[in-house]
Amino acid sequence: MSDILTGLNEQQRQAVSATEGFIRVIAGAGSGKTRALSHRFAYLVNEIGIMPSNVLCVTFTNKSAHEMKHRIRRLTGDNDTGYISTFHSFCVTVLQEDINVVQYPKSFLVLDNSDIDDMLKIIYEERGLTLRHMTFSRARDMIEIRKLFKDPEYYKFMISLSFEELHQKYLNAIEADDIIFWGYLYQEKKCFGLDYNDLIKYVLHIFSVDDAIRVKWQQRLEYIMIDEYQDIDDLQYRLMKVLCDYHKNLFIVGDPDQTIYTWRGANVKYLLDFDKEFPHVRTVMMMENYRSTPQILAAANSLIGNNKNRIKKNLLPTLPHGVPVVYHHAKTAEAEAKWIAFQIKELVDQGAKLSDVTILYRAHFISRTLEGVFLKEELPYTIYSGVQFFGRMEIKDTLSYLRLIVYKDDLSFLRVANVPKRNIGERRMKFLKDYAAQNQCSLYHALEKTIDNEIFKNTKAKRLLDLIEGFSRTYQDVPISELLNSLLEQSGYEAMLRTEGSQERLDNLAEFKQSVYEYETASGEECTLENYLSHVALLTNTDTASGRNAVKLMTVHTAKGLEFPYVFLCGLEEGVFPSKKTATLEAMEEERRLAFVAFTRAEKALYLTDAEGRNLDGSYRYPSRFIFNVDKDLLAYTEELDQSLLNDSNWHIGSSEKLMEGMSSQFAFNPGDRIVHSIIGAGEVIGIDRDKAAYLIKFDNLRTARSISLRAKIEAENGR
Ligand code: ATP
Ligand code: MG
Repeated sequence: MSDILTGLNEQQRQAVSATEGFIRVIAGAGSGKTRALSHRFAYLVNEIGIMPSNVLCVTFTNKSAHEMKHRIRRLTGDNDTGYISTFHSFCVTVLQEDINVVQYPKSFLVLDNSDIDDMLKIIYEERGLTLRHMTFSRARDMIEIRKLFKDPEYYKFMISLSFEELHQKYLNAIEADDIIFWGYLYQEKKCFGLDYNDLIKYVLHIFSVDDAIRVKWQQRLEYIMIDEYQDIDDLQYRLMKVLCDYHKNLFIVGDPDQTIYTWRGANVKYLLDFDKEFPHVRTVMMMENYRSTPQILAAANSLIGNNKNRIKKNLLPTLPHGVPVVYHHAKTAEAEAKWIAFQIKELVDQGAKLSDVTILYRAHFISRTLEGVFLKEELPYTIYSGVQFFGRMEIKDTLSYLRLIVYKDDLSFLRVANVPKRNIGERRMKFLKDYAAQNQCSLYHALEKTIDNEIFKNTKAKRLLDLIEGFSRTYQDVPISELLNSLLEQSGYEAMLRTEGSQERLDNLAEFKQSVYEYETASGEECTLENYLSHVALLTNTDTASGRNAVKLMTVHTAKGLEFPYVFLCGLEEGVFPSKKTATLEAMEEERRLAFVAFTRAEKALYLTDAEGRNLDGSYRYPSRFIFNVDKDLLAYTEELDQSLLNDSNWHIGSSEKLMEGMSSQFAFNPGDRIVHSIIGAGEVIGIDRDKAAYLIKFDNLRTARSISLRAKIEAENGR
């Protein structure tokens, strides 16, 4: 038997060797779905002889993409690893080749949150808005929601309107929402920037207006494979459906019990109805779990068994017995963190490595107490959440320098022209802005043109130009990691951090250099600076994973698809996990699936902890219902819970469930349905907000969409 098939069970082998047509794998956590996917890629390439560049493999994390590339390279000895990427990264690749169809340059920018914030800053200043009108994070959410639901065709404006026309729309806007939205679209277009939400929209648009390009990609992608299909959303689904329409070879894997992104538009129906959407679907099921001990699986099965709306399936253990799942109730968050620190030290004494230990939590804020205690106890840790790694000041500054070398764009220029200080302050920047506006050029070119002007005497502006010019000439000939080192030195940036004594920032830079180096090694010859820059905006916290021997801290969402020997799931309190935003039974089932994802990350041991205390609104924090959802004899309590705490907590959970039953009189309508509201009149449901128990409705006689609670009187429109 081929090497690629050994190390797989019978179902996995079927999945791997059935290469033609529509194949669906539905299987539980840790049952080897991702392994099957990656072996299948290898099988296609090595056994059948398919060119990697004719295969698209969509992974959920950049991390598994890297691993897969590595494997393919080992097998073929070739740098061509085909298209192994996330949906968004793949879209960047398509756009790099074909974005000129919509009159964008191939050197378009991929924007991340801090770029968006920089643009918001400009808009707020120009239009006299303050954070009291809207915080940046609210503004980002507002823009995202408008792009996804309220103005889904916005991109047509971005593409078809000229700078001037977009600018006018922005200037004419009166309400804060509109000012921000149009101002942002204008800013985006001005630097040919695309954010996360634009990428798929642009690709779908290009495919719909240009048949030749669509057919080119359809023909190129002979085989398409998709991991974590239970969390695919409408746009991704449409993209994938277009792409597979020529060769009709589509392989998907997913687990309905791990749908955790419905709040962002994911829909498990695409997995469940796959056989109705596509012809002659073969379905492979796999239930044996190769990741976790029977104890961990029993607890996970018991937990998820509480969900009513699911297909019953149990994970079957294959590994030998291990230790019981431990539950610890602490009096305070600090005591909880200390207990965890103590257990970790015990594990290390017994031979575990710190990097084998991962702490998971529902929400970022939980990590603060842990960090405090770990610092005191001198327990090294790495956080994979909180401020996005690539959004940190020092990383963003460095990236801006790199971008300036390639694109000479205004955003980057504004960010680093005067960092470190070059005496290019507000007055001189204003001078450049005026010049640029008059001459319709970038700030960088404005500086080039006016460098001999009196105003730049006694500044280091000339040195900045020389620096960027110098690197612009040579960057294509040196590896990015080398370029980075010389850049940080010659720009004086690293020296500035050293003078400031910001050790943490220097450490982050070191970690950044390491990640660039790893990126370079993983992507081989195709690794150009342009490529790196357009993909880096899509990288996430886990992509900076260092080999450091330290405890890992991350949210459950970040941990999706990963596995760790020892897992602590902490902050298991009502109002935290399940989150206090959980208002309906459907939302509660999603929270429970999220807890299930957390449980099933653990290989050898799982620890559940919670802490007493009060929420911000003064309400009491009871142990999470998810603890009581697990059969008591499957958990080893470190101490029995107080009877009065138990009574109160039972009462709390009971009343919360009753409340939710009331709220969840089920959504009677779906997006797309025409309805009549007893007061406002006719409209169309364009979205469903399960957390808030509300519809998003675009009424015919209102300009913008509204959230309408389930309490409202709504009926189906007659005759439809
Ligand atoms: P998740 O739902 O969490 O994404 P998964 O179904 O993708 O899980 P994998 O990550 O592919 O599961 O596999 C889980 C673990 O089991 C991995 O460590 C993998 O190497 C191992 N494994 C998978 N299949 C087999 C097998 N047939 N024999 C032995 N080990 C296996
Ligand atoms: Mg997986």
